[in-house]
Order: sequence, then C-alpha cells, then structure tokens
Amino acid sequence: MSNTQGATWLADEHQVQSIAELFKALRLPTARRLFEELHAQAPSQGWSAMGWLQALLEHEVSERADRRRASRTKESGLSLGKTLETFDFSLVSGITRQQAHGLSQGGEWIDRASNILLFGPSGSGKTHLATAIAHGLIAHGHRVYYSPTTIMLQKLTEAKREARLPQALEKLDRFDVIILDDIGYADKNEVDTGLLFDLIADRYESRSLVIASNKPFSGWEDVFPDNARCVAAIDRLVHHSAIFEIQGESYRRRQAQVAAGE
Ligand code: ADP
Ligand code: MG
Repeated sequence: MSNTQGATWLADEHQVQSIAELFKALRLPTARRLFEELHAQAPSQGWSAMGWLQALLEHEVSERADRRRASRTKESGLSLGKTLETFDFSLVSGITRQQAHGLSQGGEWIDRASNILLFGPSGSGKTHLATAIAHGLIAHGHRVYYSPTTIMLQKLTEAKREARLPQALEKLDRFDVIILDDIGYADKNEVDTGLLFDLIADRYESRSLVIASNKPFSGWEDVFPDNARCVAAIDRLVHHSAIFEIQGESYRRRQAQVAAGE
C-alpha cells in the first residue's frame, strides 16, 4: 500500500499544529492527544488512511465513554468498592444475585420509572446493594444520585429558604434514579419531610427512586408530616415497584465477631 508510505504520509509542523487546534475546537481531546502517534504508527500497522482515521475515532469514542462513566460516578456520590462482585449473596435472603444483576442493567424498570424498595435490618446490606445496582446503571449510561434521606431534605430545605427550590428539583429531575437511603431516619420533628413527599410525588411515574429503610411501612408515620401524606407517598412508591425484604445477620456484627475470634 503506497498511500501509507512515502513523502505524502509525512505531516509538516504547521499541519500538526493546525490539526491539534481543530481537534481542540471540536472538543476531541483523545484524538488531539493521539493523532500524531497513531499517524506515525500507520505504516508499520499497515493502516490505510481510512484505517488510521478509524483507529483514531475508536480511541476517542472509547475514552469518551470512560470519561462519562467517571464523571457520572463522581456526581452520583456513590461510594466506590460496593459492587455486586463484593457482595456475598450467600449471607442474605430476600434478593438473589440474578435479581440484583438484572436491576443493575437498567432497561424496562428505568424506562417505566419504577421504584426499588429495600427493607431490612441495619447492617443487612441495603446500602451496599443499592450502591452496587447503581454502579451497574451508570455503566449502562444512566445518571444516578445517592443521598441519605436526611441530607437530601437538608439540601432541599436550604434551597427552599433561598427561594431556589424549583431549580433544585429541576436539577434532580435530570437523574434517572435517585437513591434515598435510610428513609426511616428522616424524622418529621427534625426536618421538613413535606419536601420528601413533594419529591416522591414529583417523580411518580416519571423518574425512578431507590429507597432503603430499616423501618417497615407501619413505622413511616414518624417520617411524613401527616397520615394522609404518609398513605399517599406509600401508594405512589409501591404502585410501580419491586420490593425486597432483605434478611440476614448484620454484616457489621458478623465482622466484629470474626475479629474478636468468636
Ligand atoms: P445497611 O445499609 O443494611 O445497614 P450496609 O449495606 O451498610 O447495611 O452494610 C454494612 C457493611 O457491611 C458495609 O460495609 C457493607 O459493604 C457490608 N456488607 C453487608 N452485607 C454484605 C454482604 N452480604 N456481603 C458483603 N458485604 C456486606
Ligand atoms: Mg444503610
């Protein structure tokens, strides 16, 4: 193939600089970084002009996916390391690896704005499971936001006080999934849980929620400001939902016992 050899394949300094500027203007940082190197490799790799361009674009697309995943993981507030691989399903009942894996793929339940409700005692792995499912969702291109419920309510209360609640809610609307952890810790006497109702009502049939709770529904009366809103919130949450009741000994306690040699 003579077109990858000889003088025509050599680039001059001006061209290189100008192409680098063009990639910058087009916001193609990977192509900008690699084009010279891949261009130089073309003859030894046997790449034609088309083949070289293809390799360059493939690098850009692949690194772009990595960058997006990294930024979506960062914005999600999820802890790293809590994945399905690091969760021992043999220690719990109420959810199987297949079910959790299926949910982590996204698809229909996200499209239908369904919810996931995880119930179980403290230490049974609810936060880990929700986090693990969410990492999978991000890998499948979804946007996720994790927050302990009380922190979410503090943020919304602050936004309301500063007259920017609509903007705050609009920002949350952009997430395909919001994880509200430990909903049972949100106490109507301490935080404005009316905002929690508003958030649930806002997302009903439009965006998914994942909710973790160590309190059964019967204990949610302490959460919502009044009985009517408690019933209405539960109604909306369960209408399209998958409910898992996780049973298992507290993993934290088990670890402590192992450490103490019991
Ligand atoms: P919960 O949210 O139900 O209180 P967590 O998910 O926070 O429980 O679990 C407590 C700790 O134990 C975390 O560090 C978590 O990673 C770990 N853990 C819980 N269950 C398991 C499990 N089945 N396999 C591996 N780690 C677990
Ligand atoms: Mg938890």
